[in-house]
Amino acid sequence: METARIGVTGLAVMGRNLARNLARHGHSVAVHNRTSARTKSLMDEFGDEGTFVPAETPEQFVASLERPRRLVIMVKAGGPTDAVIDEFAPLLEPGDMIVDGGNANFVDTRRREAALRERGIHFVGTGVSGGEEGALHGPSIMPGGSPESYEALGPLLEDISAKVDGTPCCTHVGPDGAGHFVKMVHNGIEYADMQLIAESYDLLRHAAGLAPAEIAEVFRTWNTGRLESYLIEITAEVLAHTDAATGKPFVDVVLDQAEQKGTGRWTVQTALDLGVPVGGIAEAVFARAVSGHAALREASQHLPGPSRTGAVSSSGLPDAVEKALYASKIVAYAQGFHEIQAGSAEYGWNIDLGAMATIWRGGCIIRARFLDRIRAAYEADPQTPTLLTDPHFAEAVGDAQDAWRDVVAIAAKLGIPAPGFSTALAYYDSLRAPRLPAALTQGQRDFFGAHTYRRVDRDGTFHTLWGGDR
Ligand code: NAP
Repeated sequence: METARIGVTGLAVMGRNLARNLARHGHSVAVHNRTSARTKSLMDEFGDEGTFVPAETPEQFVASLERPRRLVIMVKAGGPTDAVIDEFAPLLEPGDMIVDGGNANFVDTRRREAALRERGIHFVGTGVSGGEEGALHGPSIMPGGSPESYEALGPLLEDISAKVDGTPCCTHVGPDGAGHFVKMVHNGIEYADMQLIAESYDLLRHAAGLAPAEIAEVFRTWNTGRLESYLIEITAEVLAHTDAATGKPFVDVVLDQAEQKGTGRWTVQTALDLGVPVGGIAEAVFARAVSGHAALREASQHLPGPSRTGAVSSSGLPDAVEKALYASKIVAYAQGFHEIQAGSAEYGWNIDLGAMATIWRGGCIIRARFLDRIRAAYEADPQTPTLLTDPHFAEAVGDAQDAWRDVVAIAAKLGIPAPGFSTALAYYDSLRAPRLPAALTQGQRDFFGAHTYRRVDRDGTFHTLWGGDR
């Protein structure tokens, strides 16, 4: 029987393209799908791209893999992943590896890893970013699991990953659920980045009165500078696009209700559990939620507010918005990296934060020039408590802050919602504040619940005997 170095089961868009990517790199790939029509279609359409070993049954699939076996699952996250593990694990032997490349919740990955470890099987929860194009041409890959499994898998995964300056966008993130955790936060940052870009567009459109095609030009210009990134690039494309049916700007014919699949929400839920403030990511998730509440928005249409249009000079605003966007983006990334740092400490993963910035430089949705700066910041000080205090970022935000404050003020004055810009600025000012009103909060808590407080001038915990009949 023909053998394969690695196998992929689940041949929808992601699995099929990952299998093709492996084959194109000269690795023999066993391919399997629950419904065999997908396997047949892969073989019919792309069978000549490399060495594929098609299998109709799980038994044939497993039997065709070299030992120790490397088996990649690319199926729907959640129950389907458990179903596939339950089907394949009994066919495997100690030392074999199951790689879950789906968008699993890291808590599930930890559970699955622990259960399979008992049976001697390596379970490698792996974040794969970049969508179907990335899967085919080189994704950013974030594998968790044991260091031993990375020895066997790393060379293959690095081979098919994106490369930036010759460096693969793939590294061993850390044990058990670390890979899926980092992929989750990557997606949360992606939400924040997209929201900030959307707010930039909204301000340029409604405060400065620019047309979508003009705003596309602004984004194209930004993409030649420090904001250069995949998301800025595609934003220009989307804004320049005209709807063929109506001749209107494409952005004007799309229903303004953003959807979500769940990784942004998980990032925020996890941050709440870890006690990490990720307002930029949370506001991005909430902004999508607000957009989707059609009845609530309809009922609120006549609430009073200022006119939204054309009050600001269109010559000065783009520069100010660029600064607000850059500063807010630094905050969103600082919050995301803080969450990774906290998750790493909580679960003992020992994640190298600079390495995460390195593997996000290519292949994934948030790839950007800016990530080189983040990598440099963590290289200079791996223990830095926040990216905001890195000298480069501190200077950039310092230079941007007047414009950033103006942009938030313009948005508030004109009644244009800018939750991403506003929360980022509030976070920045909270960190800078010598004193926060949290002191008053503590006083209130002590008053109504005898929750006690600590003092600035003495050690210990204190409670005041408040007056009245409480
Ligand atoms: P998908 O639509 O999420 O899932 C379809 C695949 O799952 C099909 O192969 C399907 O088999 C299989 N499947 C579903 N239930 C199953 C079950 N109970 N037992 C066995 N197989 C089952 O496919 P996708 O978009 O290619 O995504 C695959 C994974 O990658 C997902 O976890 C997704 O979240 C993740 N991901 C997707 C993207 C993206 O851009 N699409 C990006 C990154 C990560 P049948 O053909 O038999 O129905």
